[in-house]
Amino acid sequence: MATERQLSEMLSEFARTMVTDFPIQRILERLVQRIVEILPVTAAGVTLIAPNTSPRYVAASDESALRYEQLQTELGEGPCLVAYRTGNAVAVDDLRIDDRFSVFGPRAVEAGLVAVFTFPLRQGDKQLGALDLYRGRPGLLDDRDMAAAQTLADVTAAYLANAQARADLQDSSERSYASSVHDALTGLPNRVLLVGRLQHSLRRGRRTGKAMAVLFADLDRFKAVNDAHGHPVGDELLVAVADRLGGLLRPGDTLARMSGDEFVILCEDLEEEAQAELIATRVVDALSAPFELSGIVVEISVSVGIAFAGIGGQIPEQLLRDADTAMYQVKRRGGHGHQVMDLRERQLSRRRVSLQLDLRGALDRGELRAEYQPIVHTADGRVVSVEALLRWDHAIRGAIPPKTLIPLAEQSGRISEIGKWVLEQACADRHRWISGTGCDDIGIAVNVSAHQLMGPDFVAMVGGVLASTHTSPELLMLEITESVFVQDADRALIVLNDMKQLGVMLALDDFGTGYSSLSYLQRFPVDLVKIDQGFIADLGRDQTSNTIVAAVITLAHNLGMGVVAEGVETAEQQDRLVALGSEFCQGFYFAQPMSAAAFGTLTNRVDDNVNLRLPVSA
Ligand code: C2E
Ligand code: MG
Ligand code: MG
Repeated sequence: MATERQLSEMLSEFARTMVTDFPIQRILERLVQRIVEILPVTAAGVTLIAPNTSPRYVAASDESALRYEQLQTELGEGPCLVAYRTGNAVAVDDLRIDDRFSVFGPRAVEAGLVAVFTFPLRQGDKQLGALDLYRGRPGLLDDRDMAAAQTLADVTAAYLANAQARADLQDSSERSYASSVHDALTGLPNRVLLVGRLQHSLRRGRRTGKAMAVLFADLDRFKAVNDAHGHPVGDELLVAVADRLGGLLRPGDTLARMSGDEFVILCEDLEEEAQAELIATRVVDALSAPFELSGIVVEISVSVGIAFAGIGGQIPEQLLRDADTAMYQVKRRGGHGHQVMDLRERQLSRRRVSLQLDLRGALDRGELRAEYQPIVHTADGRVVSVEALLRWDHAIRGAIPPKTLIPLAEQSGRISEIGKWVLEQACADRHRWISGTGCDDIGIAVNVSAHQLMGPDFVAMVGGVLASTHTSPELLMLEITESVFVQDADRALIVLNDMKQLGVMLALDDFGTGYSSLSYLQRFPVDLVKIDQGFIADLGRDQTSNTIVAAVITLAHNLGMGVVAEGVETAEQQDRLVALGSEFCQGFYFAQPMSAAAFGTLTNRVDDNVNLRLPVSA
């Protein structure tokens, strides 16, 4: 019979191991041995049972216990299963005469078992399995031993649950760590892990003095593959790309997927920088071979930018940005190739980033303003309208030209806000000029970027500004470029038709520089074509320009559109344009862009617009 002292010793032994990482198996083995020492039984075992799986014995005090455990497991019958199912202890004082276990009973007796006592391993209202006590002679255990055995079973269950929870936790935290630093699609390290490795290897590079390079690879035309064949094929392609790239690495290199179709290779311990270019060449070559995906063959290419740690970019983010900038240089050349980051490019890209930040508050600080350049009748210089041209007077860097400012505003998502400001300003300024003068037929032209035009609520915004500034729609000319049609021709057509519906005039700006598909002129409701200044500059100097300008004028007229020649700088150019039949002109010859106040002064000098002719002699 177990004494209180033995029992409490055993329990405290358990309690101590419960909080350690001691292997579960060893503890269960210790448990069954101690039970045999303190309770009047010959053998003991532990069986784990879970729903829908066969019982599994996990500990046995000796060979005989192992046999009895095995028997119950194999036969799928025995007291341990009853204890598991009912949650109550089962006591069999003499198997030879007990008829509850018709299969297990005879086999166990044959193996030398006479009495068996089984206790459920309870955890809350479910059971994890059973603790089995075996004896080679008949007879019941007394109440105290039964109670002690159940206490031990309960402690065992608690221990098992605890160990299981810890294992689960470790498992899931390992899993969730792994998934937080790997890309789910390709299984490659993601940006987080890459930045960690970069940090580490930058530190290492400082010690070893060896060069390290970051190769930033961005697929060309990946979007087209996605659009044409669907995302599953796009995903398949990315996995295949990851596979090919993986085959090019040297031991110790890291390949990561940054996002979308961007991959980064981190090359450490380079003997010389040329090695990185060699790897980049291999990357470009490897990806130019066709990919055989399920059912289709896809051809792509890749642009690779390279940045070296030595250049001074000692933080991972800077290195990645440098490699990304170099990659964009390749893209700008049309993709398919590699480029090493050069310092000048980096300065430019830094400048872009800092300008973008400055642009945030430029409107509030009053750094933006509009200038106005008259558009005149070619023949007599009479002013028809004025074009608003955006100006940014940067507090430190001085004048930032619109060719720099507009792309920045587009990239940072501010173009709609800024474009709206220009439109309001221009319409309001026009309203001020014409009040009290006879110049109320002078129109206003405002440039609209493709991003802005395609943005949400553009039409409603224009309608609102016209109303609030008391501007008749037919006096507003919106100037768009061909890029509008290239982005999304269907949507462009809808928006432009809505604008026509509003009564606004539309001009196609910089005609001849972009994609210059004459079919645009036919498809879109354009009122006016503005021939790019490049052609005008060459008028009289080069026959091709003459021919092109003449052809565009004829075509536009045939389609019922007017023509503006941009960038007219000389009286000779004006003469030629009169001869070619371009009805409107704009350029330094007539007037430079000027402040609102300066144009206001001009309108004030005349009684009516008939007399407002440019160039005005002082
Ligand atoms: P654009 O709409 O074609 O404007 C004409 C540009 O040519 C203006 O440059 C003007 O100053 C310049 N220019 C005018 N006459 C002559 C000339 O005789 N010779 C020469 N060489 N140039 C002349 P600017 O102001 O630098 O504007 C450049 C471009 O920036 C504009 O080209 C327009 O596309 C864009 N832009 C200007 N303001 C805005 C705006 O508010 N919104 C948008 N989205 N774009 C704008
Ligand atoms: Mg324009
Ligand atoms: Mg233009």
